Amino acid sequence: MNVILVGPPGAGKGTQAERLQKTYGLKHLSTGDMLRAEVAAGSQIGRQAKAIMDRGELVPDEILIRMIGERIGQPDAAKGFLLDGFPRTVAQAQALDTMLAGRKQKLDHVIQLVVNNDAMVERISGRFSCKKCGAGYHDSFKKTKKPGVCNVCGSTEFVRRPDDKPETVRTRLEAYDKQTAPLLPYYRARGVLREVEGMAAIDEVTAKLGKVLGAA
Ligand code: ADP
Ligand code: ADP
Ligand code: ZN
Repeated sequence: MNVILVGPPGAGKGTQAERLQKTYGLKHLSTGDMLRAEVAAGSQIGRQAKAIMDRGELVPDEILIRMIGERIGQPDAAKGFLLDGFPRTVAQAQALDTMLAGRKQKLDHVIQLVVNNDAMVERISGRFSCKKCGAGYHDSFKKTKKPGVCNVCGSTEFVRRPDDKPETVRTRLEAYDKQTAPLLPYYRARGVLREVEGMAAIDEVTAKLGKVLGAA
C-alpha cells in the first residue's frame, strides 16, 4: 500500500507517520528529514537547500523529484511507502505519477490532515525532538514522561528546528496555501483523496487514520 500524508506544517504528518509505519509496515519517507540529513552532511544538495529551508520556502522541484525518485526505488520501500512532505507542488505530484506508472505501482490513499492553520503556529512553536533517536515531542501536547528524558532512548539532549520560529512558520503556511493546497483538487479528481480531521488529540487522529487505511 502506498500512502501520502498532506497537510500544512504542524498538521501532525510526522507524528502520525511514525505510528502508521509501525502498524502497517510502510516505509516512512520524510523529505524534510532527508533534506536535513543532506544539510548536516554538507552535501551539494544540502548546501543548495539550507538557506531556502531557513527562510521557510520550498526547495526547487527538480532536487526533490530526483531525491524521491532514487528513494522509492530502494528495497525497503518495495512493500509500500508513506510519504510525508512530498509532493508539495503539482509538478512534484505529476512527476510522482510518472515514476509510479513506470514501476507499475499506484497510490492507494492521499490523506489530507484537515487542520486550522491558525493553530499551527502554536503546534510548531512547541515542537522538539530527541537529539539521539529523533522521537518527536511537544511542550504542551506530547510531553516526555519524565521531564527532560526521552521516553524512547533515555537521552537528555533535545533539539528544536531553526525553521520552527513563528515568523518562518508563517512563511511556510503561506507556501502551503499557495503551492501545496492545489494538490488537493488534483488528487480529488483522481478519486484517491481522503479527508481526516486533524484537530483532534493525537490518539484520536491515529484511530481515524486506521479507519481509512483498514485493518493492519
Ligand atoms: P508535521 O510533520 O505535519 O509538520 P508534526 O507531526 O511534527 O507535524 O507535529 C507538530 C507538533 O505538534 C509536534 O510537536 C507534535 O508533537 C504536535 N502534534 C502533532 N499532532 C498533534 C495533535 N493532534 N494535537 C496536538 N499536538 C499535535
Ligand atoms: P513541515 O512538515 O513541518 O512543514 P518538513 O520537515 O516537511 O516540514 O520540511 C521542512 C522544509 O524542507 C520545508 O519548509 C521546505 O523548505 C523543505 N522541503 C521538504 N519537502 C519538500 C518538498 N517536497 N518540496 C520542496 N521543499 C521541501
Ligand atoms: Zn530518544
